[in-house]
Amino acid sequence: MHWLLHSEIPDIRLIGLRKTYGDVVAVDSVDLEIARGEFFTMLGPSGSGKTTTLRMIAGFEIPTAGTVELAGNDVSRLPPYDRPVNTVFQDYALFPHMTVQENVAYGLMVKKVPKAERRQRTIDALSVARLDGYGDRKPAQLSGGQRQRVALARAIVNNPQVLLLDEPLGALDLKLRQEMQIELKRIQREVGITFVYVTHDQEEALTMSDRVAVFNKGRIEQIGPPAEVYEHPTSEFIAGFVGVSNVIERDGRRYTVRPEKIQILAEDERSDEGSHVEEGTVRDVQYVGPVTRYHVSLDRGGELQALAQNLEETSGEVLAARGRRVRLQWRAGQESEIVEREGTE
Ligand code: ADP
Ligand code: MG
Repeated sequence: MHWLLHSEIPDIRLIGLRKTYGDVVAVDSVDLEIARGEFFTMLGPSGSGKTTTLRMIAGFEIPTAGTVELAGNDVSRLPPYDRPVNTVFQDYALFPHMTVQENVAYGLMVKKVPKAERRQRTIDALSVARLDGYGDRKPAQLSGGQRQRVALARAIVNNPQVLLLDEPLGALDLKLRQEMQIELKRIQREVGITFVYVTHDQEEALTMSDRVAVFNKGRIEQIGPPAEVYEHPTSEFIAGFVGVSNVIERDGRRYTVRPEKIQILAEDERSDEGSHVEEGTVRDVQYVGPVTRYHVSLDRGGELQALAQNLEETSGEVLAARGRRVRLQWRAGQESEIVEREGTE
């Protein structure tokens, strides 16, 4: 992948970035380049070092070792307000006594931006965040999703070079979160600002990002476009964290195959030529509405999950599959070999 042209300076470059708190290694030697205008996501379980990395980019934490460069400039020792960066947190921390408009304009006022320009930029930011007509309300008169939009407007009004977002949708319910994922992506395209987005939610990472870095224990374990990380996980950790761990061993090698790539055949049904086939027994069935998840114990040991769309089947029919003998098949190209790096388990 060539996100960066050779002549182009990355918007963000992290070199050997490290942060320790006493004995705790929060971030362990992170190297990373993020291109201008990229929607970049740091994905990983709780405690894997995402927030600490983000806070070092923002300037809220000073690295124990390593460097943060923004557009080629070393900013590692600059305070947050001297960096061309804004941060949006999960707890949007709006000023409750100010109106929406005043909240959004606040940063410009502090920077002594002239009144007329302040007004226009505030109107523009509210419009990008689809908050036209809400300027006179107080935060308490808004829904959770609207408050998060105000927080966004308040950040983009400053025209930062980079916007850092730390689990900004974490407090919203599922429907609203999915809606805001689409909105965030639209806003990012519209304003063209580099987004660095932190989440522990794989769906969020896969739907919005140009590239994803998966964090594990303070390190980046895999980095790439969403489809590459999902379809070709390079470790068992990635296979399980980004999707369902479906690992099979063959000839001393380990492979992963995604549940939706596996087709379930009846015991006596012919498999396609050239496809890979495993035989087993359905141990459990989960009916999920649009799809059904089958847990199949393989005759030669181990277990695979297969996901099937409920095209014709009723819930009664799919649930009756429990205990049935089946054959699983997938095309050879659908599996991906796992090659663990040295030093990872
Ligand atoms: P994430 O955002 O991926 O959940 P964090 O970056 O917040 O992870 O934390 C990484 C590790 O560093 C965790 O083990 C956490 O407990 C530790 N940590 C983070 N901040 C501090 C701090 N101020 N003092 C001590 N330990 C910290
Ligand atoms: Mg965090």
